Amino acid sequence: MKRYCFQCGNELRITDLDGKKRFTCSGCGWIRYENPLPAVAAFVENGKDELLLIKRDAEPYKGRWALPSGFIEIEETPEDAVLRELKEETGVDGTIERLIGVYSQRCKLYKNALLITYKIKPKGEYLCPGDDAKDVKFFSKKRLPKIPFSSHIKSIKDAQEMGKRKC
Ligand SMILES: [Zn+2]
Repeated sequence: MKRYCFQCGNELRITDLDGKKRFTCSGCGWIRYENPLPAVAAFVENGKDELLLIKRDAEPYKGRWALPSGFIEIEETPEDAVLRELKEETGVDGTIERLIGVYSQRCKLYKNALLITYKIKPKGEYLCPGDDAKDVKFFSKKRLPKIPFSSHIKSIKDAQEMGKRKC
């Protein structure tokens, strides 16, 4: 498959740059660097020590349960993005409580995503599945369904460990 430069329309060629194969424009010299795609996830608990999950309505892993999550839009901060995704997918308004961690997530579709997970304090517990979510539910943390993303599993584990620490 031929690829073309989005700046000048000339053909891209694979070149060896600093030991890495990169697409480079034969016309203007533009180099296509590939980077992980930034995404955010929300860790939200209710007053009963339960965790909020959504049943995904989009690939990858459509139909599986996972943390509310999504990609950061170009004009957004990670904090804006996570609050927007949470509201869109679950109907929950919230405020950022703390950063839980930053994780790499390999995936077929995007090769590699960079997931930033925040703990969010919900303003209420009214749930309304929306955008990209078939269903939304609080689960007992002792009986979570099998979550397909390793980055979400690590986020949950890290959040639990932070919760145990007293200082
Ligand atoms: Zn070009």
